[in-house]
Amino acid sequence: MKKILTVLGARPQFIKASVVSTQIADSSSLDEVIVHTGQHFDANMSDVFFEELGMRTPKYQLNINGGAHGEMTGRMLIEVEKVVLSERPDIVLVYGDTNSTLAGALVASKLHIPVAHVEAGLRSRNLKMPEEINRILTDRVSTWLFTPTESATKNLLQEGVSETAIYQVGDVMYDVALQHGAKVSSDGRILGQLSLNPKEYILATIHRAENTDNDTVLQGIVEALSSVANNIMPIVWPVHPRTKGRLQSLGLLESISTELLLVEPVGYLDMVQLEKYSSLVITDSGGVQKEAFFHGVPCITLRQETEWVELVEAGWNMLVSPKSNNMEVILEAVYEGIEATPAEIFPYGDGTAALAISKLLH
Ligand code: UDP
Repeated sequence: MKKILTVLGARPQFIKASVVSTQIADSSSLDEVIVHTGQHFDANMSDVFFEELGMRTPKYQLNINGGAHGEMTGRMLIEVEKVVLSERPDIVLVYGDTNSTLAGALVASKLHIPVAHVEAGLRSRNLKMPEEINRILTDRVSTWLFTPTESATKNLLQEGVSETAIYQVGDVMYDVALQHGAKVSSDGRILGQLSLNPKEYILATIHRAENTDNDTVLQGIVEALSSVANNIMPIVWPVHPRTKGRLQSLGLLESISTELLLVEPVGYLDMVQLEKYSSLVITDSGGVQKEAFFHGVPCITLRQETEWVELVEAGWNMLVSPKSNNMEVILEAVYEGIEATPAEIFPYGDGTAALAISKLLH
């Protein structure tokens, strides 16, 4: 029996891990111990995903959150190392690009325990993003690099990673979307609570540091979203805790138009409903860009670059830099996005990425 120690801590990681953990649980030769670093800790940023997606409760809850990047990562290194030393796993499994990912990968590699990285090879080529640093360093020390797309595989090959370490398994988020997407209809749930009709609203999410940490940029985004909501159609915006804190401290919450519906972060199934029945998605989230595509909805990404380049090439995703601070550009992009007729593409595998990962880890 091989023991896998999974280190996770942030919302998208719970979602990605849910399908892989199910496959590991079904395998007779793999055993999984889950460590939750505590990076995301609110019930609606953490517990709801374990419940809705049927995940096992983590054996370890480290409760590490807040503080600057160095402090948070440092505390994680100390505590994750203790767990790894006591559990002595055969493999440490990490997801994505957060501080929890990097902490798990660094601890394991220094203890000579092989690291498996799900969502390897993604690059924005913007080293100012904390996520980009976490990805590059994690990939560098990983033994198994599970890539979601061909472009991610190519990035690793270009960086000199051996072909034999790269496994292009597809995107685990596509697996999750296929498994749960079909269950969600337009009836009830959050659409019912907000009295919204399918295809008569836009969904927005904003949480990247580059958009929330700069006052002018965040203010510009709020003005642009208010203008879209007033002139085109209502916007539902589940607000990430980081963004909420920033909106509060800038005094922007009061000025927001009533057509811009701010709600607390929602669970995965409510999010699927909001995505599936929206007419357009406006986001800076990596995962939400792809989920829009999975549910056949065009997307505008408020960033200068994206890791999911194939969606831009096919016309599913349009990049609009919020730094231009230009409401007109965003409004125009929204009109264009709503009318978009993107090409049919299948870049994310066939919905069996999690099964492939569990087989390869045997
Ligand atoms: N998500 C959610 N509720 C929300 C906002 C997002 O369930 O209120 C989900 C979304 O469906 C996707 C994931 O969280 O699966 C994306 O996470 P996030 O945007 O926090 O991070 P990123 O993908 O940018 O790393």
